[in-house]
Amino acid sequence: MKPFRYEQPADVTSAITMMRDEPHAAYLAGGTNLVDLMKVEVATPDVLIDIRTLTSKQIEDLPDGGLRIGAAVSNSEIAADRRVRRNYSMLSQAILAGASYQLRNWATAGGNLLQRTRCSYFQDVEMPCNKREPGTGCSALQGHHRDLAIIGHSPSCVATFPSDMAVPLAALNAVVRVQGLDGERMIPLTDFHRLPEDTPDRDNVLERGELITAIDLPAFSAPSAYRKVRDRASYAFALVSVAASLEIADGVIKDVRIALGGMAHKPWRAWEAERMLRSLAPTVDHFQVAAEAELAQAQPLRDNGFKVPLARNVIVRMLSDLANITEVGQ
Ligand SMILES: Cc1cc2nc3c(=O)[nH]c(=O)nc-3n(C[C@H](O)[C@H](O)[C@H](O)COP(=O)(O)OP(=O)(O)OC[C@H]3O[C@@H](n4cnc5c(N)ncnc54)[C@H](O)[C@@H]3O)c2cc1C
Ligand code: SF4
Repeated sequence: MKPFRYEQPADVTSAITMMRDEPHAAYLAGGTNLVDLMKVEVATPDVLIDIRTLTSKQIEDLPDGGLRIGAAVSNSEIAADRRVRRNYSMLSQAILAGASYQLRNWATAGGNLLQRTRCSYFQDVEMPCNKREPGTGCSALQGHHRDLAIIGHSPSCVATFPSDMAVPLAALNAVVRVQGLDGERMIPLTDFHRLPEDTPDRDNVLERGELITAIDLPAFSAPSAYRKVRDRASYAFALVSVAASLEIADGVIKDVRIALGGMAHKPWRAWEAERMLRSLAPTVDHFQVAAEAELAQAQPLRDNGFKVPLARNVIVRMLSDLANITEVGQ
């Protein structure tokens, strides 16, 4: 492991200034992703700037009925929070579907949103990878890509974004609060992560030095759930995951939210399926047609075509469960 310096700035402004002045520095939060990548020399910072004590560790009520989650709140604390469990249950379920107790106790809200892809070639410095080393090529395109993207990928990169927590945050219209030297920015979660295009080395829209300070959740209380399909029951990343909520009034769908994980370089909000379902009766046929319309844009790779019917079936099953339909008949 490459030697590095460790700094503990006094406040957010000092941390951002330090990052501006150090060309090869990285922020350190829980370290559960960054330190692993340093051990295999995928990340090689000269300086670690510890920010874990600089941002809030509180989950606060917002005046509109929403919640503000400080960037340093642990994943476990978010999942266990009474207000999150009551009003945002898909978020609590998604966090509990990820990693392990020990990791969730240490991983932070901010760090979770910035974890790097689990593409095996990204983590192997011997292999070409445009995300790790721009211009070297994408080993996964013709190599092992069974667990990688089917939507929104490019010839430069077919990686997926691995976070479970980010999937319900996309469905909830969460907003990421970011502090830079020029002030604060509020970025909708659905615009925070990028598609790879020709620059897969950039996972998100953060500018250098910008620090996540909090995540705002708008008021929400519709019934919701998260389902994660993976190769083994624990300690594995999603092949496909779905965060969904459904609000029915007078026999028709008043509001529906669907976001997909394990499918793309970012949490994938199923805008088309949602648009089709609003104002329709909540039936299995409608769920199926909407899921298929959303997935029509999928472009599976050689070995991951199974994700298309898998995602469709999970969406239909989840919406049916939320609508209390027991006979899905797939
Ligand atoms: C074995 C294992 C299994 C896992 N399984 C899952 C899983 O199933 N599902 C899942 O979703 N996750 C899983 N994870 C990933 C885990 O959730 C992340 O490692 C964790 O959320 C990262 O948080 P952290 O605070 O430790 O971030 P760190 O590792 O400290 O940082 C990650 C990145 O974010 C940057 N950063 C951190 N905080 C900020 C901030 N406030 N502002 C700006 N930059 C910041 C750092 O510079 C770094 O680049 C797993 C991890 C491991 C090791
Ligand atoms: S899919 Fe992306 S992360 Fe994986 S090898 Fe290709 S460029 Fe690298």
